[in-house]
Amino acid sequence: MTASPQRPVRAVCHRCGGPKQGPFVPCKTCSFVPLGEERPIAWLFGLDYLTEEEMLQAGERIRGGEGPDPSSALRELAREEMGALPLSSAQLKPLSTWQLLGLSVGNLILTPLIGGALWYGMREDRPVAAGQIARLTVPVIAGLTLMWIVLLLAQL
Ligand SMILES: [Zn+2]
Repeated sequence: MTASPQRPVRAVCHRCGGPKQGPFVPCKTCSFVPLGEERPIAWLFGLDYLTEEEMLQAGERIRGGEGPDPSSALRELAREEMGALPLSSAQLKPLSTWQLLGLSVGNLILTPLIGGALWYGMREDRPVAAGQIARLTVPVIAGLTLMWIVLLLAQL
């Protein structure tokens, strides 16, 4: 591939407002790569959805510090328009009470890394379950971190 400065701008990065050659390519300005739930948002900042003028204005607003926050209806529209499958019922399925209980016990007795690993593995395909895992795991990590800080301070 040869680098050319004249490549057409087909999208702007919704993190930094920088020009990109397509909504889903990595941003050369800030290295942001839209994945998972960021992809519909990235699509909304491309020429598939905006006119060139609107897109350049959106890029300017983002560079000015305005963070994009499209409504869930707009994200759903983007998801459909960009050809992604709507989330299936299997993907939307939450964890069962027993799975949640097991995770809580594992997080508390063993290590909250369990919750972290599960969240990492599920964040793309099972967003609902991953959200449940995050809500259970983050307080445990915060609590343990606080405990360690208190213990360390007590030893000084
Ligand atoms: Zn960027």
